[in-house]
Amino acid sequence: MEIFHTVAELRQWSRTLRMQAGNDAGNTIGLVPTMGALHAGHASLIRAAVASCAHVAVSIFVNPTQFGPNEDYARYPRNFDADCALAEAEGARAIFAPSVEELYPEGAATLVEVEGLSTRLDGASRPGHFRGVATVVTKLLIAAEPDRAFFGQKDAAQVAVLRRMVADLRLATELVVCPIVREPDGLALSSRNTYLSADERAQALTLSRAIRRVEELVAQGERCASTLIEAAREIFVTEPLVRVDYVALVDWATLQPVEVAAPGTLFAVAAWVGSTRLIDNTILS
Ligand code: AMP
Repeated sequence: MEIFHTVAELRQWSRTLRMQAGNDAGNTIGLVPTMGALHAGHASLIRAAVASCAHVAVSIFVNPTQFGPNEDYARYPRNFDADCALAEAEGARAIFAPSVEELYPEGAATLVEVEGLSTRLDGASRPGHFRGVATVVTKLLIAAEPDRAFFGQKDAAQVAVLRRMVADLRLATELVVCPIVREPDGLALSSRNTYLSADERAQALTLSRAIRRVEELVAQGERCASTLIEAAREIFVTEPLVRVDYVALVDWATLQPVEVAAPGTLFAVAAWVGSTRLIDNTILS
């Protein structure tokens, strides 16, 4: 597996491989953007990429522009050697680990803003977050020129922002969205779970319990948004140490609230457990 630190190296790798004779998967290049601290959720993305692309690169970059001033940029978990080992074991051929200066050169002044969408759900409580995400993903897609880029449904609002961005910019990359990987007890895997104390880890299950409750009600035929949201809020009431940020039923493309749940509607929650902000969601069937 190769490790690149510059955009020029990654771009050359991608272009060289694309020009080579094809195999079963053609010469397709896959990119899995991550912030490192890789876990089984990231591994599932890498596996999906390896299954459908001839060559897969994993980017590892803790992107400063998507963190607010009082957020956890400095203490975000960094574990480069273990990340490389996991990516290689899952079949990745390259790691892209640029410095901040490489992706944001001296005097950098260009940002990508997906208007409207970027202010909804997580964007409402994390101003500037999705501008940082859209900007860095644009840079990664321009650098790697992948045929497909793989993202987790775990960050469902991020997916909506990036789908809009790729469509608007007419980028040549197909976005592939992979299912949420969970712990056996339901907690969605997240690099931030490492911040949780044992007590907080137990409290964090409130999010997936709320998700499951809504899935159950929808399976029983409930469609009314306010009823579903209220049922989820009742689950959160049972765990007063968990502070809800949002409980929302929205159109997954626009992130605008809906009044009636339909197949494909996004039900999403965000909550603070101690000082850790966690998110979870389900796409209703
Ligand atoms: P991150 O390193 O947190 O920026 O995540 C990198 C990618 O992994 C994003 O597309 C996430 O949505 C995805 N991801 C994170 N956690 C999970 C999970 N539990 N299941 C599936 N994908 C995930």
